[in-house]
Amino acid sequence: MNLIFLGAPGAGKGTQAEVVSEALNIPQISTGNILREAAKNGTEYGLKAKAAMDAGALVSDDIVIGILKERIAEDDCKEGFILDGFPRTVPQAEALDAMGIKIDKVIEINVADETIKQRVSGRRVCQGCGASYHIEYKPSKTEGVCDKCGDKTVIRKDDQPEVVLERLATYHEKTAPLKDYYEKQGKLVTVEGQEEVAETSRLTLAAVGVE
Ligand code: ADP
Ligand code: ZN
Repeated sequence: MNLIFLGAPGAGKGTQAEVVSEALNIPQISTGNILREAAKNGTEYGLKAKAAMDAGALVSDDIVIGILKERIAEDDCKEGFILDGFPRTVPQAEALDAMGIKIDKVIEINVADETIKQRVSGRRVCQGCGASYHIEYKPSKTEGVCDKCGDKTVIRKDDQPEVVLERLATYHEKTAPLKDYYEKQGKLVTVEGQEEVAETSRLTLAAVGVE
């Protein structure tokens, strides 16, 4: 099964993508994580991407499309994959279609902007492996320490309040039109984000047909 997870920054699409990835045993491909990794390693495109990310803007379509093409050509994607954070623009969605990639469903995690602004401040990410946490909704076992690799969890630079506003604006302008795009293809399923993560997960799993 090939799935896309769509949602505003901080809506919890990554968390839900991870839940489904484990349930279906197919990889979760987070373009945000790949870009942060590249930025950390200081590759040429990584540095370019970092400038855009830190400003709350999108990384250019050609960079992200190139990354994605390479990633889904890997062996572990043969049985299906979950795209978390791609596509984020109509040209990116068109590129997927042009590649002949068949998408089964697009799951939108819908959360009001006001809720997002409150939530994002509690978000943490592991500086080692990129795993994500939330101090209230998805805490690591030991505060400040990653469950998966033991490295430090930190606040993402782009989770600062001013940058979050910019990212929300970018989402509404560039990414939200994808809802129409996939609605027209009959693939869009909207899941209302709940107060409890476990409750959202239950709805998400039902939406992809796993009970
Ligand atoms: P969130 O969904 O919480 O904003 P991500 O980790 O998915 O976080 O993305 C972080 C940043 O990485 C985005 O703000 C953007 O700058 C960049 N990025 C990730 N995916 C894409 C994409 N498909 N197209 C353009 N930029 C992207
Ligand atoms: Zn880690």
